Amino acid sequence: MNAQQQVRQLLDFIDASPSPWHAVATMERQLIAAGFQRLLETDEWLLQAGGRYYIIRDDSSIIAFVAGTKALETQGFKIIGAHTDSPGLRIKPHALFKTGELLQVGVEVYGGPILATFTDRDLSFAGRVSYRVDANEVATELLHFEQTLLRLPNLAIHMNRTVNEDGLKLNKQTELPLLFSTQSKEQLPADIFTDLLQQKIKREAADILSWELNVYDTQKGVFWGEEQAFYADSQLDNLASCHAGLSALLTDAALNSGDTIVCAFFDHEEVGSESTKGADGSFLPDTLERIALAMQLNTENYKRALANSFMLSVDMAHAYQPNFPAAYETEHKVYVNKGPVIKLNANQRYSSESISAALFMRWCEKAEVPYQQYAHRTDIPCGSTIGPLTAAKLGIRSVDVGNAMWAMHSIRESAGVWDHHYMIKVMRCFFAE
Ligand code: ZN
Repeated sequence: MNAQQQVRQLLDFIDASPSPWHAVATMERQLIAAGFQRLLETDEWLLQAGGRYYIIRDDSSIIAFVAGTKALETQGFKIIGAHTDSPGLRIKPHALFKTGELLQVGVEVYGGPILATFTDRDLSFAGRVSYRVDANEVATELLHFEQTLLRLPNLAIHMNRTVNEDGLKLNKQTELPLLFSTQSKEQLPADIFTDLLQQKIKREAADILSWELNVYDTQKGVFWGEEQAFYADSQLDNLASCHAGLSALLTDAALNSGDTIVCAFFDHEEVGSESTKGADGSFLPDTLERIALAMQLNTENYKRALANSFMLSVDMAHAYQPNFPAAYETEHKVYVNKGPVIKLNANQRYSSESISAALFMRWCEKAEVPYQQYAHRTDIPCGSTIGPLTAAKLGIRSVDVGNAMWAMHSIRESAGVWDHHYMIKVMRCFFAE
């Protein structure tokens, strides 16, 4: 498959995944098609060497792995980690309210989005809804409104004369509620909202109990630029890395390498990772230990396996935007379409160190892929990733890498076609080495 086709698949994957719950469901479909079997955390695991498995925790974190045929204690786990969530707006429990003659949807800010980018976009929502089945049982379904339902119109420049000098600042409580309709019905706003949900999940309105709903942009992904070498879509941070990791896993070279290869994609990275299914939770340690036990390793050999393991923590990086040169460290500018970026930070905001960085460089050389090195400006606080958390919890050597992109945390982010291709190539080399 060429680079353009790989990114076409990525854009289709993102457009089918308007929330972290949908992203996991989309990946699950791909895994099932490739012969992966689901394991439940509540069941006993009986694994076969060479078998393909996956586990989902609470609908939005997923770990897929191939049980190796080679000795796990000496080969270790080869892990690619990324996150399924993206910053944005989430709908509040009492969603609809009346303002004058208008109905609005109340939203909470999830993580650190660039809020101004949510104005004047074609918004809708998607997520999961839980409902009563009978007196004892609750069930959950995914819901995805494909039509545009919501909007955050800008204030006209005639009422905001200095917007171009001062920038667009939005008060999170009063200026983010989204417009939904004019109030014409007799119904209470709460009933109008559950009626809307009911259209999609086909349950009695009275049985709908709770939900988690993500606001998303209905505009599809596009290619752009000379030779269409760039692409734009929402949620590139970090669904582009999930897609690259899964694409590398689902290659013959990786599947048949004989090693225990793992893709671990977590929710809640954008809000600190501290949850049952976040990277700072027990999901990955629990899973790796259970794989080792099911492969008949004792504790001593499980610890040996961890000591022989390696993790690529993959998250997007900040590409140089020439209109804002002062934002970048002059000697560490990284460019779109110039290869995967190795992220280094002396204060351990990234998990990379010189040995793990050198190993990654070696895989790049082997895969004939260029690479770049990034350091943040020393006088601006640096972001972090799941890398340091998982590395600290498990004692696994790890490197933080990712592709260069523009406008991280905008509702419309942008990156390079060649970089996605390069990343899949080097990941495949890491898995299949
Ligand atoms: Zn990220």
